[in-house]
Amino acid sequence: MILDKENGHEMAGSTKPVDAARSGQSDAPDRDKSSDGTIGDERHQTTKSEHNPDANGVVRAMDITHDPAHGVDARKLAEALVASRDTRILYLISNAQIVSSVVQPWIWRRYNGINPHRHHMHISVVTEPHRYDDIRPWDLSALEKEDATSPQTPDASSVPASAGR
Ligand SMILES: [Zn+2]
Repeated sequence: MILDKENGHEMAGSTKPVDAARSGQSDAPDRDKSSDGTIGDERHQTTKSEHNPDANGVVRAMDITHDPAHGVDARKLAEALVASRDTRILYLISNAQIVSSVVQPWIWRRYNGINPHRHHMHISVVTEPHRYDDIRPWDLSALEKEDATSPQTPDASSVPASAGR
């Protein structure tokens, strides 16, 4: 486990390398973090969500803000994670779609949650500690294969940023 320094709770170790994608990796130091998050707010805490500490007291979800101008395209990050077929992934949500490693594995399906996740992508990691604490770097090589001509994800500018997680 690692500690989320900003929010003071335990995080699944495997979220650390994703954290690198969202804030480290040196190429995105100025990225927007307005939709980032780890632990759930009070409203979240009344719902079943990996943003809430699990039976082991560990938060197994993270939100990463969409900010392509500063090097983080949340949808492309989600697609790279899907392409990696990483067994630490439980599910991802992006642009009103959800993709799971368990339910119809790795196929994007419609997501009908209140927040369509157009300003961030959500990742939840699996329940087993030996997997969620596996800190191997995430394979984001599919990101590097992207080029500037790839299709744009749906425009999110009309959705209020305050729509929650
Ligand atoms: Zn989330």
